[in-house]
Amino acid sequence: MDFELTDRQKTIQQEAMAFCARECPPEFEAELDRTGEFPADLYKKMADSGLLGVPFPGEYGGSDGDILDVVLVAEQLASSSNTAVNLFLVPVVFGGMMLYLAGNDSQKSELLPRLVKGELKFSFALTEPGAGSDARSIKTTAVERDGTLVVSGTKYWTTGATVANYIIVVCITEPAADPSLGMSVLLVPGDAVGLTVTPLPKLAGAPSPPARSCWTRSACPWRTWSGARNTSTRAGANFSRRPTSRGCASPHRAWEAPRR
Ligand SMILES: Cc1cc2nc3c(=O)[nH]c(=O)nc-3n(C[C@H](O)[C@H](O)[C@H](O)COP(=O)(O)OP(=O)(O)OC[C@H]3O[C@@H](n4cnc5c(N)ncnc54)[C@H](O)[C@@H]3O)c2cc1C
Repeated sequence: MDFELTDRQKTIQQEAMAFCARECPPEFEAELDRTGEFPADLYKKMADSGLLGVPFPGEYGGSDGDILDVVLVAEQLASSSNTAVNLFLVPVVFGGMMLYLAGNDSQKSELLPRLVKGELKFSFALTEPGAGSDARSIKTTAVERDGTLVVSGTKYWTTGATVANYIIVVCITEPAADPSLGMSVLLVPGDAVGLTVTPLPKLAGAPSPPARSCWTRSACPWRTWSGARNTSTRAGANFSRRPTSRGCASPHRAWEAPRR
């Protein structure tokens, strides 16, 4: 079996490495941690350099990459900057790839090109105070009422929710069914009525804080359904783990920066 990277994969790896050397030196990461501000400039540069489009087909402005390309980019970004890898993993992998996998055609053609251009940010809300590894234990519900969806519940550790234009929310929509069949993935605007987002403190990576997001009978229009109702979210959760784990395992050179 040949484990060598192809020339194309090596080029992607080198381009991501060059981007990090240029845009995310260790001092920059330390400065971001100090200010805690969302680095809009860095996100735009990632878009302009094509990084945000790696996993998506050309029709959405992407470069037709596969999951290994995504992992190679995540690995390089993580080796330089915790912030940069979060800006890639959360909006692009958790958000965009989930939308590409489960969204309908009009959602994909409306939102993915804007994500690739850096105009949109997504976050992904699965974890709850009582449901982490055991995602089947989630309690957040979405109930249809008068043509809208009423979402109720609390999510925890929703990275990027404070700045997200859309939050992808995993909810129970068929309480009587087995959880793997009674869950749906919703695409909810970040400014939905009844949604409160509170950032959680972190020791590092301040510009992309996880958050507690509380849905108090939040009414969302029907078009927020992303993909089929009551389908298992297992596939989406599984594929999102691979780039994330590679990002976590990558040696973090930014830690060499002087701490303030
Ligand atoms: C910085 C940060 C950002 C995050 N961002 C997001 C996000 O954007 N969106 C989101 O939805 N979630 C997010 N999370 C949540 C993350 O996905 C959960 O923390 C994770 O799923 C684990 O859940 P838990 O913390 O409840 O731990 P638990 O599920 O309580 O697990 C605790 C420990 O027990 C082990 N364990 C659990 N079950 C078993 C078992 N059956 N057998 C053996 N060992 C077991 C686990 O491996 C772990 O070591 C984030 C978390 C952090 C820390």
